[in-house]
Amino acid sequence: MIKAESKRLGFLSCGISKAGFLEEEVPRLENWLNKNMQGQMFYMENHFDKRLNPTLLVEGAKSVISLLLNYYPSEFQNQESYKISKYAYGQDYHFVIKEKLKELLHFIQTEIGEVSGRAFVDSAPVLDKAWAAKSGLGWMGKNTNLITQKVGSFYFISELIVDVELEYDAPTTDHCGSCTACIDECPTEAIVAPYVVDGSKCISYFTIELKENIPTEMKGKLDDWMFGCDVCQDVCPWNRFSKPHNEPLFQANPELLSFTKKDWEEITEDVFKKVFKDSAVKRTKLEGLRRNVEFLK
Ligand code: SF4
Ligand code: SF4
Repeated sequence: MIKAESKRLGFLSCGISKAGFLEEEVPRLENWLNKNMQGQMFYMENHFDKRLNPTLLVEGAKSVISLLLNYYPSEFQNQESYKISKYAYGQDYHFVIKEKLKELLHFIQTEIGEVSGRAFVDSAPVLDKAWAAKSGLGWMGKNTNLITQKVGSFYFISELIVDVELEYDAPTTDHCGSCTACIDECPTEAIVAPYVVDGSKCISYFTIELKENIPTEMKGKLDDWMFGCDVCQDVCPWNRFSKPHNEPLFQANPELLSFTKKDWEEITEDVFKKVFKDSAVKRTKLEGLRRNVEFLK
């Protein structure tokens, strides 16, 4: 019932796991933090225990319902432009997905009865990819994205953590095989080993998370990305199977798609507000976007 309703709400797929301690993720997270691969994303250092165990995060948690929402666009940016990660073409996904999760929780409460739950979209210490993989929605690829054989990896992952027991799914198998395309093509060599991304070397970190100046040694390496980076997903062979989303709110502003490098270099506050009204790009503010463009020029 939950899976059928999630489809009706527009989710690509839904998988369910028993809530508990994610023991297998402990060494991965420890290693990542010990090597400072979080850079200045200090929030990653907080809530270590809660991050590994959602029952510490949500009282009485019994099940983690993972949901994928496709964002692969049907139209792309002008080729002669600085690049924006495809997930940020449309309206801020946090709001779009939160609304759908609320509806799904309401459905569960109506159908099952007294169920408490919390919705998470990139907003709390939940290892969303690990949960989605555990519930069989895909496998964690060498680029650390969740990959599916059917539709690749261009989707958002979110969760509903609820205090009711449900029927649980089993994980799927890894289909990266001998492929190393993402490792070979990463412009900043941020995929330091299969399944390990050094967050502090990733273009998404430099262009979105980093509050200071982008280190000068990165000059010429950012491959014209001014907000995020899709290279390790674009080169993944499984993304040949990506299909355009049908979420009207993820539709890109036509100006965002048509802008040339010059347009971005000359962008004003008014245009920024218009083009990125309700967009996740607002996170960097105009100031951040200008810093990135200046660095790429
Ligand atoms: S997002 Fe870009 S910079 Fe980051 S790991 Fe992938 S290819 Fe490398
Ligand atoms: S590019 Fe190849 S190695 Fe990287 S995630 Fe995709 S299938 Fe796996």
